[in-house]
Amino acid sequence: VVDSLNGLRAKTVRQRNLSLVLRTVRSSGRSTRSELVVSTGLTRSSIAGLVGELVSIGVLDERAAPPDGRPGRPSPLVSIDDRRIAAIGVEVGIDTTAVAIVGVDGAVSRSVRVPTPSSDRSAMRIVRLVGETVEKLIRTSGVGAHRTLVGVGVAIPALVRTRDNRIAVAPNLEWVDVAFGEMLATELKERTRKCIPVSVGNDADLGALAEGRFGAGSGVRHMLYVAGEVGVGGAMLIDGERLAGHSGYGCEFGHVPVDPLGKPCRCGGSGCWETEIGTRVLLDRAGFAVRPDIDVFDDFIAAADAGEPTVRAALDEHGRWVGIGLAGFINAFDPELIVLGGFLARVLPYISTSLDREMTARSFRGVDRSVAVIAASLGIDAALIGAAELAFRALLDDPVGVVAASA
Ligand SMILES: [Zn+2]
Repeated sequence: VVDSLNGLRAKTVRQRNLSLVLRTVRSSGRSTRSELVVSTGLTRSSIAGLVGELVSIGVLDERAAPPDGRPGRPSPLVSIDDRRIAAIGVEVGIDTTAVAIVGVDGAVSRSVRVPTPSSDRSAMRIVRLVGETVEKLIRTSGVGAHRTLVGVGVAIPALVRTRDNRIAVAPNLEWVDVAFGEMLATELKERTRKCIPVSVGNDADLGALAEGRFGAGSGVRHMLYVAGEVGVGGAMLIDGERLAGHSGYGCEFGHVPVDPLGKPCRCGGSGCWETEIGTRVLLDRAGFAVRPDIDVFDDFIAAADAGEPTVRAALDEHGRWVGIGLAGFINAFDPELIVLGGFLARVLPYISTSLDREMTARSFRGVDRSVAVIAASLGIDAALIGAAELAFRALLDDPVGVVAASA
């Protein structure tokens, strides 16, 4: 009994050290073996063994460093191997559903976008659409055959109970209490004859996660992220972890009340921030037909560039409301950086004057009033990359176990 307990303990310690080395290399981009000794506190020989094992399972790559002019051999360079392991990221949007192959380094190697059916948006229909698209991507890309697939992560505009991948409510899809993760896992098993782990998360949370790790917020400790489309979501990231709240549904910034006399909101409340800064409101204010497709947005931006007065006035008003909300969140969270995603990122250059004016006037004096507001840098891929991050979580915790189970 003692022997098997010691064996178990040794296995757990090894798993924890493998996880530590993999996470350290991933967050630093690349490290020499000597740097890993310093940053992990492990011995030189442990690092050599752990790196060797992570190279053999295909998550790390190690090569000789170029000569540095000092005597002796330079310490080998360790980086993420982006060729042998992948996850599939899925984003279910109101208008478009996207599926992509994402490497451990967060790079999208292939993606497909299909229209989300407007006539039937039932959960079963969406599960079939996602299953079909994922299956096609697996078949045509060779992922699963030449590259280990560790799982599928899904970003969805919904409140998600992450512990069992269940959707509590998705107002824009009109779903209540849907076992989405379980349904998709069953669908994928029927189509591929394989058990592929599925995890599900809120689209704005996952966009924030990706921007914080690989995008505009990389290296920032306290990042506030707001993604604005038809709906408005967001997250507050503290050291890369999102502030989730008691039930995990925290940071629904779009539904923070900003106007007691405001318009009714699809959440059942009224005067929510989303009713002032959602894209449909902006188009409406500018007198554009409210059709949330790409052409309308391109036309809208073209009209803004041409200096059309009604469009400019609508953008000023939009900036004012964005600034009012952000001032409140600055006072509440004291972020180091604010990153705007979705359509908000696209209109940022046009609203920054009125946004800054309102934000500065309303931010509490003790807090830094000059916090920078910048556009997200991963563009339309942010939520997809964040969804793949969900699928990589198990790999980062137990690299050897997950690769063995996925092979
Ligand atoms: Zn609301």
